[in-house]
Amino acid sequence: MPRAGATKNTPPPPMHPASAMDFLPPAELREVQLTRLQATVQRAYDRVALYRERMDARGVKPAEVRALADVERLPFTVKNDLRDSYPFGLFASPLEEIVRFHASSGTTGTPIVVAYTQQDVDDWTQAMVRSFASLGVHRGDIVQNAYGYGLFTGGLGFHYGAEALGAAVLPVSGSNTDRQIALLRDFGVTVICCTPSYFLHLIDRGKELGVSFADLPLRTGVFGAEPWTEEMRGRIEASSGIKAYDMYGLSEIVGPGVAVECLHQVGPHVFEDMFYPEVIDPETGAVLPENTEGELVLTTLCKRAMPMIRYRTRDVTALTSTPCACGRTLRRIARIGRRSDDMLIIRGVNVFPSQIEAALLKVEGTLPHYQIIVDREKDLDTLAVHVEVTPEVFSDTVGAMEQLRADITHAIASVTGVHVEVRLVGARTLQRSEGKAARVIDKRKL
Ligand SMILES: [Zn+2]
Repeated sequence: MPRAGATKNTPPPPMHPASAMDFLPPAELREVQLTRLQATVQRAYDRVALYRERMDARGVKPAEVRALADVERLPFTVKNDLRDSYPFGLFASPLEEIVRFHASSGTTGTPIVVAYTQQDVDDWTQAMVRSFASLGVHRGDIVQNAYGYGLFTGGLGFHYGAEALGAAVLPVSGSNTDRQIALLRDFGVTVICCTPSYFLHLIDRGKELGVSFADLPLRTGVFGAEPWTEEMRGRIEASSGIKAYDMYGLSEIVGPGVAVECLHQVGPHVFEDMFYPEVIDPETGAVLPENTEGELVLTTLCKRAMPMIRYRTRDVTALTSTPCACGRTLRRIARIGRRSDDMLIIRGVNVFPSQIEAALLKVEGTLPHYQIIVDREKDLDTLAVHVEVTPEVFSDTVGAMEQLRADITHAIASVTGVHVEVRLVGARTLQRSEGKAARVIDKRKL
């Protein structure tokens, strides 16, 4: 039975005590960061061979980190370092102090392993409590957690954070869509956590089952684990009546809870007292000024079992200290719409899937379900986009369909500079994903 009073319009609760750190005066925040950075670098140097060797090679000692700017003297860490040290090579704590492992699935090579001490787990939980609090989630909320439970950090990260906040958690994990919808409706769920593409799938399936999301008490979606655009946010909010927020995180750093938006939806605030962010030029490695787009680099400031020094995330963003209306002093990153890994090179032109998503969702009549297919014919790259369109458009005249197809082709070409072969397909014909969406099929790599 839906809970009384649980409506989409519940006013935000008073500030959660855990959020106090979000509002630290900048000078104090920088002091906290420096103290923690120095301790992290010392620990990494003393206990992890890879960090010691790299710092020695650069001729930099932990004691030489005297100011935050000295972080630039430290070597980078990349994903391959985690693979090469599989499974325990980057641990800075003995096994007796480790209480949890997570790992990537390893479908594309050697998996990466991350480890946590009890203190690490508690710190992570605290970051998640602050994340939920930042979105106005509170005691009395019912949180449906549709992130996968298991080796992936999503499930347990969201789970313990929501519980510690005092909300009631429904640990559904991924998949089982019809059951997810029944629970959303029957329990009067107010907050959902999943990938944005899976939420779209839930809305669609709900329609088929006669469940309108706009009529449910559900008011907040915490979406992450895949890049998504502002246009996608617009579509999600319009079709469900909820507010959709961006959560950023990655297993190598901690899991979800590295950065999260506030109620103003102007890009995630980084929990800077726990994670030190930099944006670099991915070619030269030079640190870029604020408000300049580049690759996000993160250094953990609290992690004990597996400190990460200047980890190159491959996520493309910009850092800003422009004040936010919420009053948080934490700097924000621009919403991450793309990863440098996602870049497609089509006949020598760089194209990001997010550019295509943003362009096609601006065209009326399209649905937020699409697939990008890259292939090669006679040594030339080809780019095709299959996009679902509304039933109204699909049943319309051939002329109207042709016009829409031309509009989409033009919209994408004007942003990417590349000609795409657009194919319109009926609603609910493209494969749905219950986890991260497989939006790009690059047949050149098959
Ligand atoms: Zn804010």
